[in-house]
Amino acid sequence: KDFRNNVKPNWCPGCGDFSVQAAIQRAAANVGLEPENLAVISGIGCSGRISGYINSYGLHGIHGRSLPIATGVKMANRDLTVIASGGDGDGYAIGMSHTIHAIRRNVNITYIVMDNQIYGLTKGQTSPRSATGFKTKSTPEGSIEQAIAPMEMALTAGATFVAQSFSTDLKDLTALIEAGINHDGFSLINVFSPCVTYNKVNTYDWFKENLTKLSDVEGYDSSNKEMAMQTLMKHNGLVTGLIYQDTARKSYQELLGGYSKTPLVHADLNLDQAHFDKLVEEFM
Ligand code: SF4
Repeated sequence: KDFRNNVKPNWCPGCGDFSVQAAIQRAAANVGLEPENLAVISGIGCSGRISGYINSYGLHGIHGRSLPIATGVKMANRDLTVIASGGDGDGYAIGMSHTIHAIRRNVNITYIVMDNQIYGLTKGQTSPRSATGFKTKSTPEGSIEQAIAPMEMALTAGATFVAQSFSTDLKDLTALIEAGINHDGFSLINVFSPCVTYNKVNTYDWFKENLTKLSDVEGYDSSNKEMAMQTLMKHNGLVTGLIYQDTARKSYQELLGGYSKTPLVHADLNLDQAHFDKLVEEFM
């Protein structure tokens, strides 16, 4: 299936987000989805435009709110595969509380964060992922803050699928997105996606020099949470691959009794009081 549409992305030439878009499109095709069975919900930022560039249902939401919207879409129509996406500023600053709560709920959606360690759309300010000392217009003397560690955060919040990739590793990234889609629960995939225009520190070359593939870490076991945390800490979070997966924990949908009945989107919504009461009774 072709998940490309006729909209030309207006990202800067060389932006890492192009590869993330391609990976989502390939992964959706590889898992056998039809465009009408995929919904891409995005937040605000350069990367937030991605929902308009994929041939599927899409919604370019509001800043930091892609996850509550995506959760609502999934709860109303379980037949859709739902991907939420956005940048590190979107998901780890204004949207951080939604990120944590979606993780701990284990809602069956895939969240792809395009992590470029800067705010690109607003022309280059320090983000929660910027390293201490990082100089931008908003921190001309260098950031005095500690950067958020999203993968470690996800593990402690109870995530059942945690992965990280680099936008140039298209094959690996595509495979991780496929695995995230197939995971029965919430999957967080953090993608290092360089901002070539405003971030002159965390460049493609910088990532190539500093990233370690988990497939090269001897004896790495992605079902071992303790090993996942220790490995992240040892490499300062700069690893790529499937970091952790727990296939035993049930998803939010599985635990919600009424969810097994008619999806809301197919329910008779002739909402007089009797129908409303019946709907509530079915769902509880
Ligand atoms: Fe990509 Fe940065 Fe350009 Fe935004 S400003 S499109 S993040 S390169």
